[in-house]
Amino acid sequence: MMDPQPRSSSCRVAIVGGGPAGLGAALALRQRGIDRVVVIEREAEAGGIPRHCGHPVFGWREFGRVLSGPVYARRLRDAALAAGVEIRTRSSVTQLHPGGGVELASPAGLEQLAAERVILATGVRETPRSARLVGGDRPWGVLTTGALQSFVYLERLRPFRRPVIVGTELVSFSAILTARAAGMRPVAMIEENGHTTARWPSAWMARAFGLRLYLGTRLVDIRGNGRVEAVNVETGGKTATIDCDGVIFTGRFLPAAELVRSSPLRWDSGSGGPVIDQFGRCSDPAYFAAGNLLRAVETAGWCHREGRRVGGFVADDLQDRLPRSPRRIELERGPGIKLIVPQAIEVGLTDPSAMLQLRVDRDLSGRLTIDAGGQRLWERRLATRPERRILIPLQALSIPPGVDRLQVGFTP
Ligand SMILES: Cc1cc2nc3c(=O)[nH]c(=O)nc-3n(C[C@H](O)[C@H](O)[C@H](O)COP(=O)(O)OP(=O)(O)OC[C@H]3O[C@@H](n4cnc5c(N)ncnc54)[C@H](O)[C@@H]3O)c2cc1C
Repeated sequence: MMDPQPRSSSCRVAIVGGGPAGLGAALALRQRGIDRVVVIEREAEAGGIPRHCGHPVFGWREFGRVLSGPVYARRLRDAALAAGVEIRTRSSVTQLHPGGGVELASPAGLEQLAAERVILATGVRETPRSARLVGGDRPWGVLTTGALQSFVYLERLRPFRRPVIVGTELVSFSAILTARAAGMRPVAMIEENGHTTARWPSAWMARAFGLRLYLGTRLVDIRGNGRVEAVNVETGGKTATIDCDGVIFTGRFLPAAELVRSSPLRWDSGSGGPVIDQFGRCSDPAYFAAGNLLRAVETAGWCHREGRRVGGFVADDLQDRLPRSPRRIELERGPGIKLIVPQAIEVGLTDPSAMLQLRVDRDLSGRLTIDAGGQRLWERRLATRPERRILIPLQALSIPPGVDRLQVGFTP
């Protein structure tokens, strides 16, 4: 039985999430001489999403070679352990305390872990069926890509043989590869838009693997008594039935921000993650954040580099080298702008590598602009799509005195 009295312990930095970002931050902290760095990971092993991505391409920038996800995850974990990071697995953080410190639950019971700084790196997840409002029966055999990958690569199980795949993001093509690696033959791919979300040659690839590609098509419902037997789809007002024995919901990533949303930290409805400044610092300065928790969605390599960068800032902070600026300005999203990260800038403290990262919420073409109360600070012509990342060096902005807000917008 669990001990009802929480145990207490302490560390200098607690990192929530042992994926590429969390392990990158931990390594950077140890390399900067910070001791008692603890990574808390709810799974049986650290490594994050790449643990169950049995395909390449991972690790080119970090290790100079092409690795599969599990090998990449193992290397990140080994590097952190060799540097003296403590990794606590099967431990879930359930609460964040103001001023630093977390509550966690593990097979050993409940624990209060006091920490001078906390780095949040809980990653993203795909939107499951329940949040997509798909009707019909509730049979077995409806998964996300992440769940499919866990079945195939971690449990060595084949949950179905002829699934349909919903979505055409990059991860949807990972779903095809994962399914085929386990001997399944996906039968169809369904996409609401008139084009695939992933770029060329994705449509070609789907067809080359024998899938029928349904563009401009909506999944209406799922049918099956016990197991999935078919799905009904609608294209331009016409309905059709596709026989299948499973459904894989892919992409539509959301930051795994439940902890942030149930804490006093400020949360941003655009990115779906915590509000941060250019150092990854949250509204409570004991908290920092890195990786895909900040926005959906970047690659493992990007998240690892971001984790290392934020780990370096936390080391600076603990060594009294990261002052707070008396001037903090906020960025406002105009029409068409889905997200901006960071959402706040500490003026006068910018490091040369700091970037504003933006994404739009629809296909747009025109001028991307940054204004300060009617004064144009920056603009660039571009044509872009929701899945494309836009980067603006913070140094490109010369922020006039007296301004406390910048407006980011798009004009045709
Ligand atoms: C299904 C799927 C497939 C993907 N495929 C690819 C791919 O092929 N290539 C690629 O580059 N990117 C891929 N991605 C993107 C992926 O998010 C990044 O590659 C990378 O893993 C992000 O790193 P991260 O550290 O931010 O988050 P993650 O890797 O998601 O790590 C977060 C970790 O936090 C842990 N955690 C979460 N909440 C808690 C808590 N409360 N307490 C303790 N631990 C917690 C999780 O268990 C997890 O291990 C994929 C994403 C998904 C969802």
